[in-house]
Amino acid sequence: MTRLGRDAAALLLRRLRSWYADHRRSLPWRETSDPYAIWVSEILLQQTRVATVIERYREFLERFPTVCALAEATEAEVLTAWSGLGYYRRARMLHQAAREVCARHGGVVPGSAAELRALPGIGRYTAAAIASIAFGEAVAAVDGNVERVVLRLTGAGLTGAGPGTAVAASEEGRRVQADADRLLDHAAPGEWNQAMMELGATVCLPRGPRCEVCPWVEVCRTRGEHPVRKRAAMRAEALSFEWVVRQSSKREPVERVWLVQRDERQSVMPSMWELPAADGADGEPVLGLRHAIMQVNYQVTIYAVEAATARRSRQRGGRWVTAEEAGRMPLTGLTRKVMQRMGWLPVGGARRAKPDGVSR
Ligand code: SF4
Repeated sequence: MTRLGRDAAALLLRRLRSWYADHRRSLPWRETSDPYAIWVSEILLQQTRVATVIERYREFLERFPTVCALAEATEAEVLTAWSGLGYYRRARMLHQAAREVCARHGGVVPGSAAELRALPGIGRYTAAAIASIAFGEAVAAVDGNVERVVLRLTGAGLTGAGPGTAVAASEEGRRVQADADRLLDHAAPGEWNQAMMELGATVCLPRGPRCEVCPWVEVCRTRGEHPVRKRAAMRAEALSFEWVVRQSSKREPVERVWLVQRDERQSVMPSMWELPAADGADGEPVLGLRHAIMQVNYQVTIYAVEAATARRSRQRGGRWVTAEEAGRMPLTGLTRKVMQRMGWLPVGGARRAKPDGVSR
C-alpha cells in the first residue's frame, strides 16, 4: 500500500471478509454466476436505486433471458423494457453490445475485463465488476462508493488540492485505483469487490458514515473526516404538455391519447414517445407535478386540450394510442409518470406486456 502498511492490509482483508459474510444483502444478481445477468445488473445499477433495480432486473431477464434474446430484439422493444428507468443510452449501449457478443463471440460473454471494455457501454468499472464477479479475474472495481471508502480509509485528499479540479480528480482516480488494486483479495476478487461496494453503500455513507459499526474503524485514517464532493446545485425549469384525448364513441368505444415521437437525432431520449409540448395558448391545466432529470427540477403542467383544437401538435409525427398500447411503448419517464397520475397506466405495471413493434 502506498498509504497503509502490509499488516494493516492483511487486517483489512480479514475484517472485511468477515463483515461481508455477516452483513451482505441478499440481492438477486448475487445468486447467479451467469455473466449476462451480472452484466445486466451492473448496467441497471448505474444511476438507479437498488430497490428499483431488484424489480426491473427480474422483469428484464424474463423478457430477454439470454444475451442473444436481447440481441435479436428491436431497439423499441428494449427501450420499452427500460421505460421509466431513465438514462436510455445505457439500454441502447447494452443492446448494441449484446449484438456484438452474438455476432462476434458466438453469444458467449467475453471473460476478461480487457475484452469487456471493448464492448459499447462498458467502462473500466463495469468491466472489472463483471470480470471479477462472473469470471474471478483479479481486478479491483472502483465505483463512486468504493472510491469514497478508499479515500477515507487512506486519508488521501485531506491535504493538497483535494477533489474538485480535473487534475486532482484524475490523479486521485489513479491513486485510488492503485490502492484498491493493492487491497484486492486475490483469492476471491468478485466477493471482495462486492464487499467494498456494500461497505460504501451501507456503512461508509456519503453524508454521515456509520464508523461505529465499520469493520475498518481501527485502521481508518479519517473516520469520516474526508471531504465529500459537493453535488452541483439543481436548477428549476418549467415544462408544459398537452393532454389530448379522443373521446370514445359507439363505433370506437375506447379512448385514445395523442402521443408524439421524439426525433431519432435528438441527443436525449431519441425516438421515444411523449405527450406533445403545449404552447400555453389552449387548454385547461389538469395536472401539475415535479420531475427531476440530471441537475434540473422540472415543474410540469399538463393542459387538457380538445382534440378539435389541438391541430398544431397533431401536425407533428404522432399517433392516437389506447392505454393498453401506451403501456407497451417506449415512453419517456415523464410521460409514463403523467399517464400513471392521469389513471391511464397502473403504477409499476403495464411494461410487462410484450411490445407491439412500434417503429422508431
Ligand atoms: S471508519 Fe468510517 S470513514 Fe472509515 S471506512 Fe469506516 S465508515 Fe468509512
